Amino acid sequence: MTSVDSLKKKVALVTGGARGIGEAIVKRLASQGAKVYFTYQSSAEKAQALVRSFEKTGNVIALPCDVRKSENVESVVDQVLEAEPTLDILVNNAGIIRDGLFLALSEEDWQEVMATNLGGVIHFSKNVLRQMIMQGGGRIINISSIVGELGGVGQANYAASKAAVNALTKSLAAEYAAKNITVNAIAPGMVETEMTSAVRSAFGDKIKERIPAGSYGQPEEIAAVAAFLASEESRYITGQVITIDGGLSLLSRR
Ligand code: NDP
Repeated sequence: MTSVDSLKKKVALVTGGARGIGEAIVKRLASQGAKVYFTYQSSAEKAQALVRSFEKTGNVIALPCDVRKSENVESVVDQVLEAEPTLDILVNNAGIIRDGLFLALSEEDWQEVMATNLGGVIHFSKNVLRQMIMQGGGRIINISSIVGELGGVGQANYAASKAAVNALTKSLAAEYAAKNITVNAIAPGMVETEMTSAVRSAFGDKIKERIPAGSYGQPEEIAAVAAFLASEESRYITGQVITIDGGLSLLSRR
């Protein structure tokens, strides 16, 4: 599974790949031999640095894209397909939070979160699925969240967007299983990235104490599962939401 060339000849597209979990997924897929295209929106410098770090092998390419805009997404997928004969792996990772109690959330807080977290997944899946059907198979991996199932105080918009991603994942999995396309989601708990830095510094060890494993997750731990779901070995897994949270959601269910 971790062999250096286990994803050789595979072409992957990762959204929001310049930092955080997306960056770890780009590195992991590329180090397993895949040719990895990734999108960035505001992190242009980080994107270029990531491309440079794979200069020797030249198998990492950055493309600017706002996942909220369907015409932007279509053009990115077209650019990949002009250069490559196939697009085998799509990782829908780009996402945002705009947290606040339900009554304090503005119309914009809802629109931005839904347009990015759900709209982005819809736009990319639509454009890439057509190609995957034509080429006879593929893998779609959506980065969801445990709050998509559990809900979360101050996260009504984010939780609703991720619940929708889970439902979309299962629906697409059922629709396209016969086309040799698997569609799965990963639901992380609390991972150490910029997204969680404010909440981690505000609540400090209080959050860690609620995690049975006693520590935060690392982006690389999410990337390892994404790489497995991208591999041939996961052929028979589809429509699943795989939780990676050090046991955090187990306590929420009690
Ligand atoms: P970060 O905030 O570190 O990174 C967010 C990424 O999304 C960036 O690459 C950013 O690109 C991209 N992005 C945001 N908006 C857009 C947009 N409109 N168009 C294109 N790209 C966009 O977050 P994480 O790495 O932590 O999160 C990655 C995914 O994991 C998200 O879907 C998130 O919801 C999910 N997740 C994270 C958890 C955590 O604990 N960290 C827990 C559960 C789920 P750029 O920087 O170029 O603008």
